[in-house]
Amino acid sequence: MKIVLKNLTKVFSKNKGKGEVIAVNDMDIEIPDGKLVGLLGPSGCGKSTTLFMISGLQFPTSGQIYFGDVDVTKLAPEKRGIGLVFQNYALYPHMTVEQNIMFPLQNQRIPKAIAKEKALAAAKLVQLENMLDRKPAEMSGGQQQRVAIARALVKEPNVLLLDEPLSNLDARLRLQTREEIRRIQRETGVTTVFVTHDQEEAMSISDIIVVMKLGVVQQMDEPQKVYDDPKNLFVAQFLGTPPINTFNGVIKDGKVYIGNEAIMDTTLEDQDVYIGIRPEGAIVSNDGILTLKLEQLEVMGRDISIIAKNDASIKPTIRFIVDAETKIEGTEIKVDLKPNKVFLFNKETEERLYEKEVSEEQGE
Ligand code: ADP
Ligand code: MG
Repeated sequence: MKIVLKNLTKVFSKNKGKGEVIAVNDMDIEIPDGKLVGLLGPSGCGKSTTLFMISGLQFPTSGQIYFGDVDVTKLAPEKRGIGLVFQNYALYPHMTVEQNIMFPLQNQRIPKAIAKEKALAAAKLVQLENMLDRKPAEMSGGQQQRVAIARALVKEPNVLLLDEPLSNLDARLRLQTREEIRRIQRETGVTTVFVTHDQEEAMSISDIIVVMKLGVVQQMDEPQKVYDDPKNLFVAQFLGTPPINTFNGVIKDGKVYIGNEAIMDTTLEDQDVYIGIRPEGAIVSNDGILTLKLEQLEVMGRDISIIAKNDASIKPTIRFIVDAETKIEGTEIKVDLKPNKVFLFNKETEERLYEKEVSEEQGE
């Protein structure tokens, strides 16, 4: 089921009506049928509010929500055909796994035998069919969350909505369970919206990610595309571990400078800029164009992590990841830069600046 959000806005009043928060601001996106879409952004950026509006648990201040061609903006949650999963599994502790999974079918007047069959099918989907008699307290967090997912799927919803479903799990279970969710989503083909503040999680699980900041959508695209082609400094900095290195830079007479080192030619006019360089964007070279003061080397199997300083960096240190074979000597390192790993941003708006040739190719 395709989901369309049209100019969706949610305003909350605060301080007893004296102020307001625009939790979601004019959100205009289309979630394609059968895809897993990750809603990504820092805490408080409006992810849950968006999900609650899609579910019908909250109603928008303005704008519309469509499921397929049907306007569901004012429809009650139980009429929308949604499955919901939250961070805290919210299972009934006194009920068995089977009873928990069957619970949503109770007020549907479904014969018990069929309800049991459906519960078994949902339990199989999350690979818990051997634990139907257990109580939640007898299961790991990951298993409990899979029960919650089975319960959300038992009514065969049009849309599955997951709000930070992995946040309560430890690191290993978080990895396992996210692979499970990916598999379940592929097997069922249910259109899924997955909310997380964890960029790595969003990148790994999503077909498409929507990056939000302060209620406003910053970019929506395939994860790799957002990483390779961030639209602004916020998106560039929010995605990637280790994070992108950011420098104060200057464009002068067709060259881009970090400090007094010209790192590349440009078609852009003279101005101050931010320069983002992905950690994998440096190549150590004796006659490299950018000089770094080495602080520390971390050898990590396949890679070496170079931790260094450069006066133009906006953070105290920068970090580049290079191949473990790389020879690094002395405390002053010279690096060349991979052009497709270097991004320029307008210093005021923090929007991405594109070279003239590049933007013509893109038909802009
Ligand atoms: P996220 O899920 O991305 O962390 P939320 O959607 O929960 O963010 O919140 C977005 C903004 O709206 C925050 O500033 C939050 O404080 C505010 N907000 C959320 N729910 C309410 C509410 N019921 N009343 C007032 N403000 C709210
Ligand atoms: Mg939230």
